[in-house]
Amino acid sequence: MTLIIIALAFYNKMYVLLFLFMQNTYLELILWLAFFTLVLFFLPIKGSFKLSAEKSNSRFNERNTMFSRNEIATDADLQQDYYKDFPEHDALDKEWLIKPGLLDEKASLYSALSFKAADATFDTIGRLKPFAEGEVNVEKEEISSIQLSSFLEKWSKKLGAVSIGFCEMQDYHFYSVRGRGDVYGKKVDRTYKNGIVFTVEMEEEFLSMGPAGPSIMESAQRYLSSGTIAVQMAEFIRKMGYEARAHIDGNYELIAPLVARDAGLGELGRMGLLITPKLGPRVRLAVITTNAPIIPTVRKPDYSVHHFCNLCKKCATICPSNAIPKTPIAEIDGVQRWKINHEKCYSYWCTVGTDCGRCMSVCPYAHKSNALHNFVRWGIRNNIFFRRLAVVMDDIIYGKKPKPAKVPQWML
Ligand code: SF4
Ligand code: SF4
Repeated sequence: MTLIIIALAFYNKMYVLLFLFMQNTYLELILWLAFFTLVLFFLPIKGSFKLSAEKSNSRFNERNTMFSRNEIATDADLQQDYYKDFPEHDALDKEWLIKPGLLDEKASLYSALSFKAADATFDTIGRLKPFAEGEVNVEKEEISSIQLSSFLEKWSKKLGAVSIGFCEMQDYHFYSVRGRGDVYGKKVDRTYKNGIVFTVEMEEEFLSMGPAGPSIMESAQRYLSSGTIAVQMAEFIRKMGYEARAHIDGNYELIAPLVARDAGLGELGRMGLLITPKLGPRVRLAVITTNAPIIPTVRKPDYSVHHFCNLCKKCATICPSNAIPKTPIAEIDGVQRWKINHEKCYSYWCTVGTDCGRCMSVCPYAHKSNALHNFVRWGIRNNIFFRRLAVVMDDIIYGKKPKPAKVPQWML
């Protein structure tokens, strides 16, 4: 048909007709191309990216966490023992131990209001510690796993949780040895077989001011709110006649992001934090271990997160201490993951006095939960082409290196 129209136009010297036809054809072509491109971005083309090794065979020693290494700085005997066991950390730790430290008045971003507010909140969390465990009611209520899981799910949302998951606890969820407070050096026994884990949202507004003081105010606040819910729910479970322990900030026997991943709440991204479907890394976690009956959540692994992190690298680019690797995901100690340089990250925290949070706040997954951002998160999850587009668009809209938001006058 096209050829006939072209031939007729030439034969009758109707070049205007030819011009109009060509224009229409180009327009049509462009429209078709646009349509096919659009379809390509919306088809469920998830790609074949998968992780083959996700679970560890070993347990992590809490004494190796930065918080533990910081805590023993005031105890010469503990320090001596620690560096005898882990001499590879000795020189590394000497570099950050001379810096002012978290919430210290000599830190470079010190601001009395936000620092003291965060300090007060952490002290309040510390006061919750004795309630993590407690007496169990001898009169057990018989309840089915379906009923209890459903009740906890609904109640936790009422209390402020964004998402909740249940799983059977695995060996690698637990620390091998404790590294904080009066239980320093104590072996962790796997006691309860079930885990209940939930997330609470961190406000984008405060987080976006990081590394300034409001970001650590927000961290502390969400550790407090998640901790309060965990303590309250653990107490409830004990009143029902089952054993339960709340794992909250400064008093974990386990690695909460691993429990959350296995309970289907998200995946571990480049910055080493849990990336949740609704809020990305902008969450805090708390866990309850218990022998109460629960129904484990069926985890549906979402490898689009790892694929997207392979493409993105925004957290690594923004990190002021270069602690986040820019390399693709790789096998480390038998598990495919990214490993951040904790010494570099913590050293920066000890310089500025806050927990920074720049990586969390710039992550494309961490934008506000609204129709547009939820649509982008949906696209990233479902389409490999959309992922590439999302990386570019995020840089165009928010900047490759977004600047921290200004701290409002009332907090200065
Ligand atoms: S900023 Fe990018 S690379 Fe980093 S965790 Fe978020 S999505 Fe992954
Ligand atoms: S908290 Fe700050 S210093 Fe630490 S990894 Fe994230 S961006 Fe880097």
